[in-house]
Amino acid sequence: MTTAETPVAGRPLLLRGGTVLTMDDNHTVLTEGDVLVVDDRIAAVGAAVDVPEGTQEIDARGGIVMPGMIDTHRHMWQTAMRAYGADWTLTQYFVWYYLEHGKTFRPEDIHAGNLTSAWESLEAGVTTTVDWSHGLQSVDHAEAAVDALRAVPGRFVLAYGNIQAGPWEWTADPAVRAFLERLRDDDQIGLQLAFDVTGDPSFPERAAFEVARELGVGVTTHAGVWGATNDDGIRLTHENGFMTPQNIYVHAATLTEDSYQRIAATGGSVSVATESEQSAGQGYPPTWQVRKYGIPVSLSMDTSVWWSGDLFTAMRTTLGADRAREHLEAHVKGDTVTHSHLRAEHVVDWATRGGARALGRDDLGSLEPGKKADVVLIKNDSSPVSFPLINPYGHVAFQAQRGDVHTVLVDGRVVKYANQLVGVDLPAVRRAVEATVDFLRGTLGDEAWAGGMNPDLPKDEVFDNPYQYTEYKSESTREARGTIFGDPGS
Ligand SMILES: [Zn+2]
Repeated sequence: MTTAETPVAGRPLLLRGGTVLTMDDNHTVLTEGDVLVVDDRIAAVGAAVDVPEGTQEIDARGGIVMPGMIDTHRHMWQTAMRAYGADWTLTQYFVWYYLEHGKTFRPEDIHAGNLTSAWESLEAGVTTTVDWSHGLQSVDHAEAAVDALRAVPGRFVLAYGNIQAGPWEWTADPAVRAFLERLRDDDQIGLQLAFDVTGDPSFPERAAFEVARELGVGVTTHAGVWGATNDDGIRLTHENGFMTPQNIYVHAATLTEDSYQRIAATGGSVSVATESEQSAGQGYPPTWQVRKYGIPVSLSMDTSVWWSGDLFTAMRTTLGADRAREHLEAHVKGDTVTHSHLRAEHVVDWATRGGARALGRDDLGSLEPGKKADVVLIKNDSSPVSFPLINPYGHVAFQAQRGDVHTVLVDGRVVKYANQLVGVDLPAVRRAVEATVDFLRGTLGDEAWAGGMNPDLPKDEVFDNPYQYTEYKSESTREARGTIFGDPGS
């Protein structure tokens, strides 16, 4: 087979001779290793593995073979607005989406965003993406979101949410419940509930947590977000018995020791979106904190309204943020950091195993016989950045980018090959997104559209509560932190 031919479906596939980051429990690295895929599973990993008759081969020499990456928090519906909010703060994001224009999105706009985002994930080697879908104002919107995900051969989890209504309201809607029950039993698309806990002492979110419990699905929640959520939400969730290992705490940036201990004690995980936290203002990326408490970490990109949709960027920004804080904290005391705590190997683990752990999917996240064949080959023979390959973890974390992703397999199916997506109708995806942009621009008017890239603040209440479905207000979400990095010990 020449490299120009895309492997055909239904035959065993061997990635031959690559540097293999297995991400198994021992983080075994093979040089000149083979990975054999049969049907939807990894059949063998090793040196010069025996292959069944009819096996097709991909030459992985000079490349890195690793598990498909997993993004645990991405607002895919917002991708139709790519780069629109590049200069926003979190407050401006709340004004644009929560207060003013989020309700403008029609089902077909959700569909267009999800479709683009889903292909964007695959192109970057992100084989599993959690669609943190909080624009689902109706079941029609939800159907559109799922239809788009089904149209793309990746692995997706729909985290169902709706910023236009209280979680106790939309989870009580019989039509939403029927949709959720159908999706819970779906073997293709996973399900979570997505909502935030405001800290209102009456804990109105209880009803939504009860629905998640009845359905047997996890809750993903923006926790520890400056001006929105803080320790109160974590404490209420814990005191009411709703903190479970399935829960994912997104950002977790402005929490204190008390919350980290509750998360650690109940087995939940934290989804760190460093690129987001660094520029929107949720708080400092908390990797240094969660490490102290042994809380499992996964990585996420949040939204392409601002940021990139690939986990290479997530890995390098996370290393940068963690190391920058460590150096600066040391300098305050006249100390020098001589050895970095957070290493390239750790962030590669978080981008793969970490996501699988967060989603309770022990069949994903590593290259081992019997696991699902979600596999990425990073190889770009025409790039001077592809050599020398001395430190593969460092190469993935700081050198590689989405264009270097040569091959992507999801469930054993080739979805990217020879650095090109397979089976995508990109002109159709582009037309769908352009139709959404035209609709939004037309609905808002040119002035509001242009102004929306740097929106004014129409109401001051956004500072104490961005959630328009509740009257609850608390200044405590923006109480002075005391230290720059908010170290709860200081
Ligand atoms: Zn988010």
